[in-house]
Amino acid sequence: MKALCWHGKNDIRCDTVPDPAIEDPRDAIVKVSSCAICGSDLHLYNHFIPGMEHGDIMGHEFMGEVVEVGADTKKLKVGDRVVVPFTIVCGECEQCRRGNFSVCERSNRNRELGDKAFGHATAGLFGYTHLTGGYAGGQAEYVRVPFADTTHVKVPDSLSDEQVLFLGDIFPTGWQAVVQCDIQPTDTVAIWGAGPVGQFCVRSAVLLGARQVICIDRVPERLSMAAAGGAITIDFDEESVLERLQELTQGKGPEKCIDAVGLEAHASRSLDSMYDRAKQAVMLETDRPHVLREMIYVCRPAGVLSVPGVYGGLVDKLPFGALMNKGLTLRTGQTHVGRWTDDLLRRIEEGQIDPSFVITHSMRLEQGPDMYRVFRDKLDNCIKVVLKP
Ligand code: NAD
Ligand code: ZN
Ligand code: ZN
Repeated sequence: MKALCWHGKNDIRCDTVPDPAIEDPRDAIVKVSSCAICGSDLHLYNHFIPGMEHGDIMGHEFMGEVVEVGADTKKLKVGDRVVVPFTIVCGECEQCRRGNFSVCERSNRNRELGDKAFGHATAGLFGYTHLTGGYAGGQAEYVRVPFADTTHVKVPDSLSDEQVLFLGDIFPTGWQAVVQCDIQPTDTVAIWGAGPVGQFCVRSAVLLGARQVICIDRVPERLSMAAAGGAITIDFDEESVLERLQELTQGKGPEKCIDAVGLEAHASRSLDSMYDRAKQAVMLETDRPHVLREMIYVCRPAGVLSVPGVYGGLVDKLPFGALMNKGLTLRTGQTHVGRWTDDLLRRIEEGQIDPSFVITHSMRLEQGPDMYRVFRDKLDNCIKVVLKP
Protein backbone atom coordinates (compact mmCIF):
# COMPACT_ATOMS: atom_id res chain seq x y z
CA MET A 1 0.00 0.00 0.00
CA LYS A 2 0.92 3.68 -0.22
CA ALA A 3 1.65 5.58 2.97
CA LEU A 4 3.23 8.87 4.02
CA CYS A 5 6.42 8.01 5.86
CA TRP A 6 8.80 10.03 8.04
CA HIS A 7 12.42 10.11 6.92
CA GLY A 8 13.78 12.98 9.00
CA LYS A 9 13.31 16.71 9.42
CA ASN A 10 11.30 18.21 6.51
CA ASP A 11 11.32 14.80 4.81
CA ILE A 12 7.98 13.03 4.40
CA ARG A 13 7.73 10.61 1.47
CA CYS A 14 4.91 8.67 -0.13
CA ASP A 15 6.36 5.16 0.09
CA THR A 16 5.11 1.73 -0.87
CA VAL A 17 5.02 -0.35 2.33
CA PRO A 18 3.52 -3.70 3.42
CA ASP A 19 -0.20 -3.71 4.21
CA PRO A 20 -0.98 -3.89 7.94
CA ALA A 21 -2.25 -7.17 9.40
CA ILE A 22 -4.15 -8.16 12.53
CA GLU A 23 -1.54 -8.57 15.29
CA ASP A 24 -3.84 -8.98 18.27
CA PRO A 25 -7.38 -10.41 18.50
CA ARG A 26 -8.66 -6.96 19.58
CA ASP A 27 -7.40 -5.27 16.37
CA ALA A 28 -9.30 -4.15 13.30
CA ILE A 29 -8.00 -3.08 9.89
CA VAL A 30 -9.53 0.09 8.45
CA LYS A 31 -9.40 1.06 4.77
CA VAL A 32 -8.82 4.80 4.93
CA SER A 33 -11.22 6.97 2.91
CA SER A 34 -9.97 10.35 4.20
CA CYS A 35 -7.14 11.55 6.40
CA ALA A 36 -5.81 14.97 7.38
CA ILE A 37 -2.59 16.72 8.30
CA CYS A 38 -2.57 18.22 11.81
CA GLY A 39 -0.49 20.90 13.51
CA SER A 40 0.75 18.07 15.74
CA ASP A 41 2.21 16.34 12.66
CA LEU A 42 4.20 19.51 12.04
CA HIS A 43 6.08 18.99 15.33
CA LEU A 44 7.39 15.73 13.82
CA TYR A 45 7.96 17.32 10.40
CA ASN A 46 9.94 20.09 12.13
CA HIS A 47 11.59 17.40 14.28
CA PHE A 48 10.73 19.20 17.53
CA ILE A 49 9.70 15.89 19.12
CA PRO A 50 12.14 12.97 19.43
CA GLY A 51 11.56 9.26 19.04
CA MET A 52 10.75 9.01 15.30
CA GLU A 53 12.37 6.33 13.14
CA HIS A 54 12.94 6.17 9.40
CA GLY A 55 9.90 4.84 7.59
CA ASP A 56 7.38 5.49 10.42
CA ILE A 57 3.90 5.96 8.93
CA MET A 58 2.48 9.39 9.76
CA GLY A 59 -1.03 10.50 10.55
CA HIS A 60 -3.52 10.42 13.43
CA GLU A 61 -6.59 12.03 11.80
CA PHE A 62 -8.35 9.47 9.63
CA MET A 63 -11.54 7.56 8.94
CA GLY A 64 -12.74 4.80 6.69
CA GLU A 65 -14.32 1.39 6.44
CA VAL A 66 -13.60 -1.65 8.61
CA VAL A 67 -12.30 -4.41 6.31
CA GLU A 68 -11.08 -6.98 8.85
CA VAL A 69 -11.63 -7.63 12.55
CA GLY A 70 -9.73 -9.72 15.10
CA ALA A 71 -11.42 -12.66 16.87
CA ASP A 72 -12.07 -10.68 20.08
CA THR A 73 -13.53 -7.60 18.41
CA LYS A 74 -17.22 -7.60 19.31
CA LYS A 75 -18.59 -4.12 18.62
CA LEU A 76 -17.19 -3.62 15.13
CA LYS A 77 -17.91 -5.60 12.01
CA VAL A 78 -16.62 -5.56 8.47
CA GLY A 79 -18.29 -2.74 6.53
CA ASP A 80 -18.73 -0.36 9.50
CA ARG A 81 -17.88 3.26 8.74
CA VAL A 82 -15.73 4.74 11.49
CA VAL A 83 -13.76 7.79 12.49
CA VAL A 84 -10.75 6.76 14.56
CA PRO A 85 -9.76 8.93 17.57
CA PHE A 86 -6.06 9.77 17.62
CA THR A 87 -5.71 8.37 21.15
CA ILE A 88 -5.69 4.56 21.33
CA VAL A 89 -7.82 3.53 24.32
CA CYS A 90 -8.10 0.15 26.04
CA GLY A 91 -11.43 1.13 27.61
CA GLU A 92 -10.73 -0.95 30.70
CA CYS A 93 -7.93 0.62 32.75
CA GLU A 94 -8.64 2.96 35.65
CA GLN A 95 -8.01 6.10 33.55
CA CYS A 96 -10.20 4.93 30.66
CA ARG A 97 -13.01 4.09 33.10
CA ARG A 98 -12.84 7.68 34.34
CA GLY A 99 -12.94 9.04 30.79
CA ASN A 100 -9.29 10.15 30.94
CA PHE A 101 -8.68 8.43 27.63
CA SER A 102 -5.57 10.35 26.57
CA VAL A 103 -3.68 8.89 29.54
CA CYS A 104 -4.87 5.30 29.04
CA GLU A 105 -2.55 3.11 31.10
CA ARG A 106 -2.45 0.17 28.71
CA SER A 107 -2.41 1.33 25.11
CA ASN A 108 1.12 2.77 25.00
CA ARG A 109 3.24 -0.28 24.30
CA ASN A 110 6.44 1.71 24.92
CA ARG A 111 5.12 2.96 28.21
CA GLU A 112 8.43 2.63 30.03
CA LEU A 113 10.26 4.67 27.40
CA GLY A 114 7.49 7.26 27.44
CA ASP A 115 7.44 7.44 31.22
CA LYS A 116 11.17 8.14 31.26
CA ALA A 117 10.85 10.98 28.76
CA PHE A 118 7.56 12.54 29.88
CA GLY A 119 7.41 11.67 33.57
CA HIS A 120 4.17 9.92 32.85
CA ALA A 121 3.39 8.82 29.33
CA THR A 122 0.25 9.46 27.34
CA ALA A 123 -1.94 6.82 25.79
CA GLY A 124 -0.74 5.16 22.60
CA LEU A 125 -1.06 7.58 19.69
CA PHE A 126 -1.34 6.80 15.98
CA GLY A 127 1.42 8.00 13.70
CA TYR A 128 3.41 9.63 16.45
CA THR A 129 6.72 9.13 18.23
CA HIS A 130 7.89 5.81 19.66
CA LEU A 131 7.55 7.49 23.07
CA THR A 132 3.79 7.14 22.56
CA GLY A 133 3.86 3.56 21.33
CA GLY A 134 5.24 3.91 17.81
CA TYR A 135 1.93 2.89 16.21
CA ALA A 136 1.68 3.18 12.42
CA GLY A 137 -0.51 6.12 11.40
CA GLY A 138 -3.46 6.64 9.10
CA GLN A 139 -1.98 8.76 6.30
CA ALA A 140 -2.08 5.53 4.35
CA GLU A 141 -4.41 3.26 2.42
CA TYR A 142 -4.91 0.93 5.38
CA VAL A 143 -4.27 1.14 9.10
CA ARG A 144 -4.29 -1.29 11.99
CA VAL A 145 -6.51 -0.06 14.84
CA PRO A 146 -5.56 -1.61 18.21
CA PHE A 147 -8.26 -1.97 20.91
CA ALA A 148 -10.70 -1.46 18.05
CA ASP A 149 -13.83 -1.99 20.16
CA THR A 150 -13.06 1.16 22.15
CA THR A 151 -10.96 3.12 19.63
CA HIS A 152 -13.61 4.13 17.12
CA VAL A 153 -16.63 6.36 16.53
CA LYS A 154 -19.31 4.92 14.24
CA VAL A 155 -20.64 7.55 11.86
CA PRO A 156 -23.85 7.55 9.78
CA ASP A 157 -23.80 7.42 5.98
CA SER A 158 -25.94 10.56 5.86
CA LEU A 159 -22.89 12.69 6.74
CA SER A 160 -19.93 13.17 4.39
CA ASP A 161 -16.33 12.33 5.34
CA GLU A 162 -15.60 16.06 5.45
CA GLN A 163 -18.36 16.60 8.04
CA VAL A 164 -17.22 13.88 10.46
CA LEU A 165 -13.47 13.39 9.90
CA PHE A 166 -12.48 16.00 12.49
CA LEU A 167 -14.35 14.15 15.26
CA GLY A 168 -11.11 12.15 15.58
CA ASP A 169 -9.09 15.11 16.83
CA ILE A 170 -9.42 18.82 16.15
CA PHE A 171 -13.12 19.31 16.85
CA PRO A 172 -13.01 17.55 20.26
CA THR A 173 -9.66 19.24 20.89
CA GLY A 174 -11.11 22.72 20.41
CA TRP A 175 -14.18 21.67 22.39
CA GLN A 176 -12.24 20.25 25.34
CA ALA A 177 -10.04 23.35 25.43
CA VAL A 178 -13.14 25.49 25.86
CA VAL A 179 -14.99 23.11 28.22
CA GLN A 180 -11.88 23.16 30.43
CA CYS A 181 -12.39 26.94 30.70
CA ASP A 182 -15.71 26.41 32.48
CA ILE A 183 -17.35 29.13 30.37
CA GLN A 184 -19.74 31.56 32.07
CA PRO A 185 -22.15 33.73 30.03
CA THR A 186 -20.21 36.85 31.08
CA ASP A 187 -16.82 35.52 29.99
CA THR A 188 -14.38 36.85 27.44
CA VAL A 189 -12.32 34.02 25.93
CA ALA A 190 -9.06 34.87 24.18
CA ILE A 191 -7.67 32.22 21.83
CA TRP A 192 -4.06 32.36 20.63
CA GLY A 193 -3.71 30.67 17.23
CA ALA A 194 -6.21 30.60 14.36
CA GLY A 195 -4.99 27.32 12.92
CA PRO A 196 -7.45 24.43 12.65
CA VAL A 197 -7.48 23.89 16.44
CA GLY A 198 -7.95 27.61 17.11
CA GLN A 199 -10.85 27.63 14.62
CA PHE A 200 -12.61 24.88 16.54
CA CYS A 201 -11.91 26.70 19.82
CA VAL A 202 -13.65 29.78 18.38
CA ARG A 203 -16.69 27.79 17.19
CA SER A 204 -16.86 25.87 20.48
CA ALA A 205 -16.62 29.02 22.60
CA VAL A 206 -19.50 30.54 20.62
CA LEU A 207 -21.58 27.34 20.93
CA LEU A 208 -20.88 27.20 24.67
CA GLY A 209 -22.12 30.74 25.14
CA ALA A 210 -19.11 32.94 25.87
CA ARG A 211 -20.00 36.65 25.81
CA GLN A 212 -16.96 37.68 23.77
CA VAL A 213 -14.53 35.54 21.78
CA ILE A 214 -11.18 36.94 20.64
CA CYS A 215 -8.74 35.20 18.33
CA ILE A 216 -5.08 36.13 17.82
CA ASP A 217 -2.87 35.21 14.86
CA ARG A 218 -0.90 36.88 12.10
CA VAL A 219 -2.26 35.05 9.03
CA PRO A 220 -5.01 37.14 7.38
CA GLU A 221 -7.12 34.31 5.95
CA ARG A 222 -7.02 32.43 9.26
CA LEU A 223 -8.14 35.58 11.07
CA SER A 224 -10.96 36.04 8.52
CA MET A 225 -12.15 32.49 9.12
CA ALA A 226 -12.15 33.11 12.89
CA ALA A 227 -14.10 36.33 12.36
CA ALA A 228 -16.64 34.45 10.25
CA GLY A 229 -17.04 32.10 13.21
CA GLY A 230 -17.87 34.96 15.55
CA ALA A 231 -14.52 36.13 16.92
CA ILE A 232 -13.03 39.59 17.25
CA THR A 233 -9.55 39.23 15.76
CA ILE A 234 -6.12 40.60 16.64
CA ASP A 235 -3.21 40.49 14.19
CA PHE A 236 -0.15 40.18 16.42
CA ASP A 237 2.13 41.56 13.72
CA GLU A 238 0.06 44.72 13.42
CA GLU A 239 -1.03 45.52 16.96
CA SER A 240 -0.11 44.93 20.58
CA VAL A 241 -1.95 41.84 21.76
CA LEU A 242 -1.85 42.84 25.41
CA GLU A 243 -3.05 46.39 24.79
CA ARG A 244 -5.91 45.24 22.56
CA LEU A 245 -6.96 42.59 25.06
CA GLN A 246 -6.98 45.18 27.83
CA GLU A 247 -9.06 47.54 25.68
CA LEU A 248 -11.59 44.83 24.90
CA THR A 249 -12.00 43.93 28.59
CA GLN A 250 -12.14 47.36 30.28
CA GLY A 251 -8.55 46.97 31.41
CA LYS A 252 -9.20 43.74 33.30
CA GLY A 253 -8.04 41.08 30.86
CA PRO A 254 -9.94 38.04 29.54
CA GLU A 255 -11.25 35.60 32.15
CA LYS A 256 -10.33 32.63 29.96
CA CYS A 257 -7.21 32.21 27.77
CA ILE A 258 -6.50 29.35 25.37
CA ASP A 259 -3.12 28.47 23.83
CA ALA A 260 -3.93 26.81 20.49
CA VAL A 261 -0.36 27.35 19.25
CA GLY A 262 2.02 25.15 21.25
CA LEU A 263 5.54 24.52 20.01
CA GLU A 264 5.13 26.73 16.95
CA ALA A 265 5.05 30.01 18.84
CA HIS A 266 6.65 32.84 16.93
CA ALA A 267 7.80 36.03 18.56
CA SER A 268 5.09 38.55 19.15
CA ARG A 269 5.99 42.16 19.82
CA SER A 270 3.41 42.75 22.48
CA LEU A 271 5.28 41.09 25.31
CA ASP A 272 8.22 43.43 24.85
CA SER A 273 6.03 46.51 24.87
CA MET A 274 4.19 45.25 27.94
CA TYR A 275 7.47 44.99 29.77
CA ASP A 276 8.37 48.50 28.60
CA ARG A 277 5.09 49.93 29.78
CA ALA A 278 5.24 48.26 33.15
CA LYS A 279 8.92 49.23 33.48
CA GLN A 280 9.41 46.02 35.32
CA ALA A 281 12.83 45.22 36.64
CA VAL A 282 12.84 41.79 35.07
CA MET A 283 15.05 40.40 32.39
CA LEU A 284 13.38 40.66 29.03
CA GLU A 285 13.18 37.14 27.73
CA THR A 286 12.83 36.79 24.00
CA ASP A 287 12.91 32.99 23.94
CA ARG A 288 9.80 30.96 23.43
CA PRO A 289 7.17 30.33 24.72
CA HIS A 290 5.60 33.74 24.18
CA VAL A 291 2.02 32.57 24.17
CA LEU A 292 2.11 30.98 27.62
CA ARG A 293 3.75 34.09 29.04
CA GLU A 294 1.29 36.44 27.39
CA MET A 295 -1.58 34.39 28.76
CA ILE A 296 -0.22 34.48 32.32
CA TYR A 297 0.32 38.24 32.18
CA VAL A 298 -2.97 39.21 30.59
CA CYS A 299 -5.43 36.73 32.14
CA ARG A 300 -7.80 38.20 34.70
CA PRO A 301 -7.01 37.11 38.29
CA ALA A 302 -8.78 33.86 39.22
CA GLY A 303 -9.06 33.07 35.49
CA VAL A 304 -8.30 29.88 33.58
CA LEU A 305 -5.47 29.11 31.14
CA SER A 306 -6.34 26.20 28.88
CA VAL A 307 -3.51 24.72 26.82
CA PRO A 308 -4.40 22.31 24.00
CA GLY A 309 -1.20 23.43 22.20
CA VAL A 310 1.36 20.62 22.29
CA TYR A 311 4.67 21.07 24.10
CA GLY A 312 7.59 18.67 24.34
CA GLY A 313 10.53 18.66 26.68
CA LEU A 314 11.25 21.62 28.94
CA VAL A 315 9.54 24.98 28.88
CA ASP A 316 11.64 27.58 30.58
CA LYS A 317 11.24 31.11 31.95
CA LEU A 318 7.55 31.06 32.74
CA PRO A 319 6.42 33.81 35.15
CA PHE A 320 5.18 31.25 37.63
CA GLY A 321 4.99 33.85 40.41
CA ALA A 322 2.37 35.78 38.43
CA LEU A 323 0.45 32.58 37.79
CA MET A 324 0.47 31.82 41.51
CA ASN A 325 -0.31 35.29 42.78
CA LYS A 326 -3.16 35.80 40.31
CA GLY A 327 -4.67 32.50 41.40
CA LEU A 328 -4.86 31.19 37.86
CA THR A 329 -5.92 27.68 36.97
CA LEU A 330 -3.84 25.86 34.35
CA ARG A 331 -5.51 23.05 32.41
CA THR A 332 -3.91 21.09 29.63
CA GLY A 333 -3.52 17.66 28.05
CA GLN A 334 -3.98 15.59 24.97
CA THR A 335 -7.66 15.34 24.16
CA HIS A 336 -9.90 12.68 25.72
CA VAL A 337 -11.52 12.34 22.30
CA GLY A 338 -14.10 9.67 23.18
CA ARG A 339 -15.42 11.75 26.07
CA TRP A 340 -16.89 14.30 23.64
CA THR A 341 -17.72 12.51 20.40
CA ASP A 342 -21.34 11.44 21.12
CA ASP A 343 -22.31 15.02 21.92
CA LEU A 344 -20.36 16.52 19.00
CA LEU A 345 -21.71 14.01 16.46
CA ARG A 346 -25.24 14.92 17.61
CA ARG A 347 -24.44 18.62 17.16
CA ILE A 348 -23.19 17.95 13.62
CA GLU A 349 -26.33 15.92 12.82
CA GLU A 350 -28.52 18.73 14.18
CA GLY A 351 -26.72 21.24 11.98
CA GLN A 352 -25.30 23.30 14.86
CA ILE A 353 -21.93 23.13 13.15
CA ASP A 354 -20.50 21.78 9.90
CA PRO A 355 -16.82 21.04 10.61
CA SER A 356 -15.96 20.99 6.90
CA PHE A 357 -15.74 24.81 7.00
CA VAL A 358 -12.05 24.53 7.93
CA ILE A 359 -10.93 22.56 4.82
CA THR A 360 -9.05 24.61 2.25
CA HIS A 361 -7.24 21.77 0.41
CA SER A 362 -8.44 18.33 -0.65
CA MET A 363 -5.75 16.28 -2.42
CA ARG A 364 -4.58 12.79 -3.27
CA LEU A 365 -2.47 10.98 -0.66
CA GLU A 366 0.48 11.07 -3.11
CA GLN A 367 0.47 14.87 -2.83
CA GLY A 368 0.97 14.59 0.94
CA PRO A 369 4.71 15.41 0.99
CA ASP A 370 4.06 18.73 -0.80
CA MET A 371 1.02 19.44 1.34
CA TYR A 372 3.05 19.16 4.56
CA ARG A 373 5.13 22.08 3.34
CA VAL A 374 2.13 24.03 2.06
CA PHE A 375 0.35 23.60 5.43
CA ARG A 376 3.40 24.37 7.58
CA ASP A 377 4.43 27.43 5.58
CA LYS A 378 0.81 28.60 5.18
CA LEU A 379 1.19 28.80 1.39
CA ASP A 380 -1.77 29.12 -0.95
CA ASN A 381 -4.04 30.29 1.93
CA CYS A 382 -3.82 26.80 3.41
CA ILE A 383 -5.69 26.18 6.66
CA LYS A 384 -6.57 22.44 6.65
CA VAL A 385 -5.53 19.69 4.27
CA VAL A 386 -7.57 16.53 3.67
CA LEU A 387 -5.90 13.69 1.76
CA LYS A 388 -7.65 10.91 -0.14
CA PRO A 389 -5.82 7.58 -0.43
P1 NAD B 1 -1.19 25.27 13.15
O1 NAD B 1 0.28 25.21 13.20
O2 NAD B 1 -1.88 25.18 11.84
O3 NAD B 1 -1.73 26.58 13.86
C1 NAD B 1 -1.00 27.33 14.78
C2 NAD B 1 -1.36 28.80 14.55
O4 NAD B 1 -0.75 29.59 15.58
C3 NAD B 1 -0.84 29.34 13.21
O5 NAD B 1 -1.93 29.88 12.48
C4 NAD B 1 0.18 30.41 13.63
O6 NAD B 1 0.21 31.50 12.73
C5 NAD B 1 -0.35 30.81 15.01
N1 NAD B 1 0.66 31.43 15.89
C6 NAD B 1 1.99 31.21 15.91
N2 NAD B 1 2.56 31.98 16.88
C7 NAD B 1 1.56 32.70 17.45
C8 NAD B 1 1.53 33.70 18.49
N3 NAD B 1 2.64 34.09 19.12
N4 NAD B 1 0.33 34.22 18.82
C9 NAD B 1 -0.80 33.83 18.18
N5 NAD B 1 -0.83 32.90 17.18
C10 NAD B 1 0.35 32.35 16.82
O7 NAD B 1 -1.67 24.07 14.11
P2 NAD B 1 -3.10 23.47 14.59
O8 NAD B 1 -3.40 22.26 13.78
O9 NAD B 1 -4.12 24.54 14.69
O10 NAD B 1 -2.68 22.98 16.05
C11 NAD B 1 -2.42 23.94 17.06
C12 NAD B 1 -1.74 23.29 18.26
O11 NAD B 1 -2.66 22.33 18.85
C13 NAD B 1 -0.48 22.49 17.90
O12 NAD B 1 0.48 22.68 18.92
C14 NAD B 1 -0.96 21.06 17.92
O13 NAD B 1 0.08 20.15 18.20
C15 NAD B 1 -1.95 21.12 19.05
N6 NAD B 1 -2.92 20.01 19.11
C16 NAD B 1 -3.17 19.49 20.34
C17 NAD B 1 -4.06 18.47 20.50
C18 NAD B 1 -4.34 17.94 21.86
O14 NAD B 1 -4.82 16.81 22.00
N7 NAD B 1 -4.09 18.69 22.92
C19 NAD B 1 -4.72 17.96 19.38
C20 NAD B 1 -4.48 18.54 18.13
C21 NAD B 1 -3.57 19.57 18.00
ZN1 ZN C 1 -4.12 16.15 15.33
ZN1 ZN D 1 -7.08 2.40 29.12
